[in-house]
Formats: sequence, C-alpha cells, structure tokens
Amino acid sequence: MRATSSPTSSSADRRVLRRALELAARGSGLTFPNPRVGAVLVRGSKIIGEGWHHRAGAPHAEVHAVRAAKRAGHAVGGATLYVSLEPCSTRGRTPPCTGLILREKIARVVFAATDPNPAHAGAATKLLRAAGVQVSHGLLAKEAAALNLDFNWWVVNKRPWVVAKIALSLDGRTTTPPGDDRWLTSPQARRAAHQLRWESDAILIGAETARRDNPQLTIRLPGAPRGKLQPLRVVVTKSGRLPRSLRLFTDAHRKRTVVFRHRPLDQVMAELGAREITHVLVEGGGQILTEAFRLGLVNEVAFFIAPALMGTMPRALYELGAKVQFHNVTYQQVGADLLCRALVSD
Ligand SMILES: [Zn+2]
Repeated sequence: MRATSSPTSSSADRRVLRRALELAARGSGLTFPNPRVGAVLVRGSKIIGEGWHHRAGAPHAEVHAVRAAKRAGHAVGGATLYVSLEPCSTRGRTPPCTGLILREKIARVVFAATDPNPAHAGAATKLLRAAGVQVSHGLLAKEAAALNLDFNWWVVNKRPWVVAKIALSLDGRTTTPPGDDRWLTSPQARRAAHQLRWESDAILIGAETARRDNPQLTIRLPGAPRGKLQPLRVVVTKSGRLPRSLRLFTDAHRKRTVVFRHRPLDQVMAELGAREITHVLVEGGGQILTEAFRLGLVNEVAFFIAPALMGTMPRALYELGAKVQFHNVTYQQVGADLLCRALVSD
C-alpha cells in the first residue's frame, strides 16, 4: 500500500471502494467459478461509471464500468478506477483488464484485495506501475477478501468451500422419525435455506437422504434475479444402488445430477474442485456430515435451530416431544450461545 496518499484522499478512496464492494456483492451466487468483483470509475470527485461481474464468461467488472462511463458520455482517459479485487493481468475466458486500463489511459487504479492466486498476486500492480499508472491497494482488503472466501479457498486449495447445513430441534435431533414428513423448521427458515443454495454451485447429499427424502435440491426463491444455473446435485453412495425413479434422475434438471460411487468424501471434493466447483452445500444426512467434519472438510456451518422437541430417545419419547407445542418463541444470542424462550401450550 502506498503511504503517499493524504488522509482526505484515503477517506475518499475508502468511500468509493466500499461502493465497489457493494457492487461486487450483486454477483453473489452468479459468478462461479469466478470471484465477485465490483468496479467504479471516478473523475475528479464524480462517479462516472459503475459495474460488476455478472457471470463467468461475461465481461469483468472493469469492462462494465468503462462501458457505463462511455454510454453516459464521459471520457475515461485520466480517470481513477476503483476495483474490489486486483485487476487480472492474464487472459482467462476474457482478455486481461490490465490491457483495458492501459488502452483507456486510466491514470490511477485503487484496488482492495490482492489476487488470491500466488502465481498472479501483484502481477497487475507491477505491470501497471511499469506503464506509468499510479496504483494503490490494501484499503478494505479484509472486507474484500471476505466477499470471496469460497473462491479464494478454491484457488489456493483446489477444493470447494464446504458449508454444512444442519437443522436441529431444541433437543438436538436432526430429522423427524421415519414416516413423519413434517418440516422441522419454519417457512422463513426454509427460504433462508434456499438462499444458502443460491450461494452454492453444488449441493451434496448422501444416498440415504436421496432415498428417504427424494429431494429436488433446486433453488426455489420467488423474486430472485434470473441467470442462476441450478446447482450441481451431487449424491455420494457406497452401494451405487439408487432408484432411477428419484426426482434427481427424472426432473427437468436431471443433467445437473452427478453420482459418486465408492469414493471417500475428500476424493469427491478434490474431483469437484477439479470440475471448477468452488462452493458446496452439504445438506445431509448425518453420516455424510459426520464424515465431512471428521475429515476436516467443512469450512462453514449453518445451523437452523427449531423450537421443537423431537425426542433424543426412541419412539416413545418422540411421541411425548411431539405433544409439546411452543408459542411466543424468541431467540436471543447470549455470547456464543442461542437462548430459546417459549410458552408451552397444553
Ligand atoms: Zn479482469
């Protein structure tokens, strides 16, 4: 980071960079296997163009910002470009953004996070400075990296970022007993679960869950922006015996179903990483989740804690638990714990 900028310019830089981060977040769930990136072009103190990366293969955020400025009739030469991530300097699916910056005669580039790929980190900075472009970076670097935890992890480890989704009753049961298909959690929690799917490019379950629940594993989020490919549906099975009548094999997205047979879970993750899957949501069941934790594959957890008693013991206690209904439920975070208070109806 350059130490030459005055406090005033640094606070202005911070404000515009924050805007670039906001724009980057719009690509959440859509850019796989690319990072979320936002860019803002500024001339003087005026924002003349904004953009973000919409999806892999489409133009990068920098290109969108330049196009937006030109569409609005602004000259781009001499402007300052703010980007949430170090611009790319090598050709990927699209030409490198360093070429665009030089061609458009952008005078100054301010970016937040450095390229997570050790092979590319600092490359754009070096190249642009050598060509006379002023470059500063490091402001909001932590916040910018937090936007792309999954992508950064995948780039470095060649494995997807793994999120374990677990719905629990107050007494710690993860599922309702066989034959009881009531939902454990509320409609709002199920919507939040679909949001978790939105943020993923694959959903993974074990064969037991596939047989038992016959799930669709699709994103059903009314009002969500278009352009999201349904996540890849991954089933891990030891026996390889899965009924072909399952929805995963018969519905409109059946081509988005992959079955891994007789494989340890870490091998499955390695293979998914090689297929450019950067973010996997593991939805169950208990065996798969246990294995994922045991092998140290889990990066993030999402616990839904429902105000219900399912009975930690056999059927008899479940039946007792099922009779206890709660209302006026509140949750309070107390330190790292969650306190649930509710009235019991009789
Ligand atoms: Zn680029």
